[in-house]
Amino acid sequence: MSSIVLKPGKEKSLLRRHPWIFSGAIQNGDRVFESGETVDVLSSDRQFLARASFSPHSQIRARVWTFEDEPIEKDFFRKRIRKAIDTRYSLFDSTEAMRLIYAESDNLPGLIVDRYGDVLVLQSLTAGSEFWKETIADILLEETGLSTIYERSDADVRELEGLPPRSGVLRNSIIRESDRDPNNESQITNIVIIEHNLKFNVSLAGGHKTGFYLDQRKNRLRVRELAKDKDVLDCFCYTGGFTVNALAGGAKSVLSVDSSADALALCKENIAVNDLELSRGSSLEGDVFHLLRKFRDEGRAFDMIILDPPKFAPTAAQAEKAARGYKDINLFAFKLLRPGGLLFTFSCSGGIDAGLFQKIVAGAALDAGVNAQILEYLAQAADHPVALNFPEGAYLKGLLCLRK
Ligand code: SAH
Repeated sequence: MSSIVLKPGKEKSLLRRHPWIFSGAIQNGDRVFESGETVDVLSSDRQFLARASFSPHSQIRARVWTFEDEPIEKDFFRKRIRKAIDTRYSLFDSTEAMRLIYAESDNLPGLIVDRYGDVLVLQSLTAGSEFWKETIADILLEETGLSTIYERSDADVRELEGLPPRSGVLRNSIIRESDRDPNNESQITNIVIIEHNLKFNVSLAGGHKTGFYLDQRKNRLRVRELAKDKDVLDCFCYTGGFTVNALAGGAKSVLSVDSSADALALCKENIAVNDLELSRGSSLEGDVFHLLRKFRDEGRAFDMIILDPPKFAPTAAQAEKAARGYKDINLFAFKLLRPGGLLFTFSCSGGIDAGLFQKIVAGAALDAGVNAQILEYLAQAADHPVALNFPEGAYLKGLLCLRK
């Protein structure tokens, strides 16, 4: 078995079961194995610590599959995948739209699998998940009984692993790759899912992430519960996850803002497909930073504002600039809220933790001159669990604030 040996003292994080081994921690660091190959990880005194996948191009040179002395083969992946899927199915009534496998959080580094209706969307982000991709695809079909997997391995992080982007049909028992026709592919990729009894059009090929922000599921429901008779502003609305829920919850009006015309078009379709009154909804294409100022100048006011921006800080290095961005939009949101109004504010930046985010929002309220309190702490849904040995898995944090 190929092996890597750690420098003295560098076994500490592995003993705490953190799954990453950085290149600087390895003694025989110049040895190169095949991309994704399974290697043993040994301490400086040659004790077995873990079995991992090797990433020759990444600073994260290896990622742990197991801390046990067990073979890495099809059955290993079957057990892990089965366990992840069983947990999800036990958590939710409906299997319509959910994350089945969430990488390190499910002890499967680099592998994300989302279920949208009868289609599985697979994202392979590391050399290790790429090495085992075909085996994993076979297991996914066997264990779910489904027949279609669409691949969305087009995230930027693949570059760090030396892997090219790849999107397209990975498995389809009805249509073979060789005689695929584009019309059939769009049948696979343009689907309607149901979340909490509401329908959403999802574009698996062109949508963000794997098509939909599944992580916001329970927060969307919370918006629905609280939106009755309110004037709502949904900033960074994308395809209308929050907008549709606010309308379904009886909002008096919902204004949806996004910089993407395509997202707004789908947002409108999602309002219509749920038979919600289009007259209560309106949308505006533009930059939220600019529009919040414009609304302030126009003296507009809302009873509920949702701020769900894109990732401003993927890593801690961009945290400072990102903090300014969050402060800015939260400050103007507080100014636009009527007394008694609610702010749902989120950050999905890995580089900003929950404590820092709360400080930023507190600073924004202070500078806006409003008195506010936190009613609820919000986070990603339970199908995006956080392994206690991998706190990096917690990326979505939110606050439900009341302007007094
Ligand atoms: N709230 C959405 C997800 C938001 S994703 C949901 O629950 O589904 C972030 C969105 O912000 C994207 O649709 C993107 O087009 C939009 N966006 C990014 N920067 C923007 C900006 N400066 N102004 C307005 N929209 C922006």
